[in-house]
Amino acid sequence: KYNPEGDSQFLEDESTKIFARKVAEHYSARTNQTLEEREASPIIHLKKLNNWIKSVLIQLYARRGDAVLDLACGKGGDLIKWDKAKIGYYVGIDIAEGSIEDCRTRYNGDADHHQRRKKFTFPARLICGDCYEARLDEVLASDAPFDICSCQFALHYSWSTEARARRALANVSALLRPGGIFIGTMPDANVIVKKLRDAEGLEFGNSVYWIRFDEEFSEKRFRSSSPFGIKYKFHLEDAVDCPEWIVPFHVFKPLAEEYDLELVFVKNSHEFVHEYLKKPEYVELMRRLGALGDGNQDQSTLSQDEWEVAYLYLSFVLRKRGQPDRT
Ligand code: SAM
Repeated sequence: KYNPEGDSQFLEDESTKIFARKVAEHYSARTNQTLEEREASPIIHLKKLNNWIKSVLIQLYARRGDAVLDLACGKGGDLIKWDKAKIGYYVGIDIAEGSIEDCRTRYNGDADHHQRRKKFTFPARLICGDCYEARLDEVLASDAPFDICSCQFALHYSWSTEARARRALANVSALLRPGGIFIGTMPDANVIVKKLRDAEGLEFGNSVYWIRFDEEFSEKRFRSSSPFGIKYKFHLEDAVDCPEWIVPFHVFKPLAEEYDLELVFVKNSHEFVHEYLKKPEYVELMRRLGALGDGNQDQSTLSQDEWEVAYLYLSFVLRKRGQPDRT
């Protein structure tokens, strides 16, 4: 072959690093919004719906006193959710320095734009780093083991290469106690591939989002290629504009098993909403978050286009093999 193994490995590493930096710069550059700006967002109800999904996952699995590892924690938007679950310890890691700074500000209660609040009751450690490259078992040796690991709207950034996807799962596995839980939300590859198949060209979307594949990843071609590194550009109004990678769930599941992480459930967001809206406590939570609005004003509920974006995501729960050593 013209391209010796070492060469292609080198090229892959370089471009992978460039893309990881692109993602970090994108998120770092996003400044905190004021409450007014947030409420005026064209995807405000989608943001609230996603907060509801994350809250339900946390309420389902977090227990009082838990040690929590939040991979790709961003600006700490889930801190309040963990506080409500009365966790005992929190470690948040994100590659974007600006986001970790915002997260620190929010944790310290200095200038939370959304609401002034008392300090959080749990101690926290916030770190800037690449969760899909660094050996977190070394970085967090003195903090482990964790009862819960959460990776919300971010695990797909690890699927740029097999090495990174494996590092992400190896990190989670090494840091969770036996019986510990890994919760996450990420794009649903089945939905995205189906939409690509139905699209005219390599792009599809609606008034609030678009997804565009490069020529090399047209649906026909990536069926026969490696399941890693299938890149597309994702644009979501007022939220995201960066490269992302497909995570084929039928590959993700056995790969996670290699790291002793067994699937508890996986649900597309639509299914998730339908299922958990059957439970009164989560209906009440949805009402409080205002995700579906009160129906009294224009724009007070999720638009059809936002609901279509919700369909692009799935939530998963994995459990680390082994018996928990506490009751
Ligand atoms: N988990 C947060 C939430 O739900 O609000 C943030 C989600 S945001 C859509 C995606 C986050 O993933 C960004 O904060 C970004 O900086 C982070 N991220 C992307 N690649 C990462 C990496 N390699 N290591 C750590 N964080 C990463």
